[in-house]
Amino acid sequence: MTTSGWGERYSDALMNTFGPPKTTLVSGSGARVTDADGKEYVDFLGGIAVNTLGHGHPALVRAVSEQAARLVHVSNFFATPPQIELAERLLGLLGAGGRVFFANSGTEANEAAFKLTRRTGRTRIVAATGGFHGRTMGALALTSKEAYRTPFAPLPGDVTFVEYGDAAALEAAVDESVAAVLLEPVQGEAGVVVPPTDYLVRAQQVARDAGALLWLDEVQSGIGRTGTWFAHQNPALVDGTVVPDVVTLAKGLAGGVPIGACIATGGSGKLFDPGNHGTTFGGNPLATAAALAVLDTVESEGLLARSTTAGARLKELLAADARVTEVRGAGLMVGIDLSQPYAAETVAAGQDAGFVLNAPSPTRLRFVPPLVVTDADLDALAAAWSGILDTAYTAGGAA
Ligand SMILES: *Cc1c(COP(=O)(O)O)cnc(C)c1O
Repeated sequence: MTTSGWGERYSDALMNTFGPPKTTLVSGSGARVTDADGKEYVDFLGGIAVNTLGHGHPALVRAVSEQAARLVHVSNFFATPPQIELAERLLGLLGAGGRVFFANSGTEANEAAFKLTRRTGRTRIVAATGGFHGRTMGALALTSKEAYRTPFAPLPGDVTFVEYGDAAALEAAVDESVAAVLLEPVQGEAGVVVPPTDYLVRAQQVARDAGALLWLDEVQSGIGRTGTWFAHQNPALVDGTVVPDVVTLAKGLAGGVPIGACIATGGSGKLFDPGNHGTTFGGNPLATAAALAVLDTVESEGLLARSTTAGARLKELLAADARVTEVRGAGLMVGIDLSQPYAAETVAAGQDAGFVLNAPSPTRLRFVPPLVVTDADLDALAAAWSGILDTAYTAGGAA
């Protein structure tokens, strides 16, 4: 079966929520994937910042296989060792005491956190324009993008949006009616938008002064993506110390096995009482064993440092073409602006040339490859980059 055959079967069997698939992938290794026609691509999307260890990493294969043979799932009426160990590890990486709730995705991690904030006795949330927090009704209520919201109104209420990166706007919006201030340390879906380095520190102060929780959505930016375990710990992004009350995680945490985590530090970890929240699958031994293997491998292979050095090289190679007008981000969470709105054409030209690229907006591209991306992978993009842009600009109609 070829990619076009699979494409037809896809559109006859699957709901059209994602638009037509770009191709049909059948295998992968490291930062490379192969489609049903046998064509290989260097994967600069990494399953949208999910495949931390790339494709087919032996440590993840082993952990999932061994855990599957031992115990895939039990209900949350029971504890399992990987679940407990993962919660302890995450609290350790955050450097804070607290409690963890495991879910299956980013939106569910945020849903849990949203409910947790209601347990403060306050209901209002202040979130940022351009932010993305997921597609369930609660997470969507926290997401500002009108195109996502409008078809599903009315959404759960009491959410105020302020301009991302503007600490004064936050200060003006937050008072003692606010349960939580919700921010991404770096906005991913917006195209890797980086706030001023004093923003999170000031947001923390604003939240503290009002008795509100500081809730950071690190679903995309967490787990080494920017070169530190969490983006809010990255001195390249944040000038000062930030200790969030709530952190949500998902994408990169288990390297592709579905998982989400809502971590609440200090007293916030005790806001839920038995019966307040639940999940059937969340935190099951398979997903948590996978996450432990990801954390172990990020440590043993030095992938935080790798994220930083590979990210710097990636930024440099992208900026080498003058049609790239801005390069943003840290580690392997990189966004660029093009001089013309040809990002979609660049993705298409990239695919023809053997690269998986991503365009979160008509002028922006986002690069979030596996942290195991090699120098050879980066060299391949460097060699092809200007040619990809030539093709894209011609297709876009530029002179
Ligand atoms: C992807 C994303 C989500 C939603 O995660 P899903 O697993 O798709 O539900 C939430 N917040 C941020 C910052 C994200 O990037």
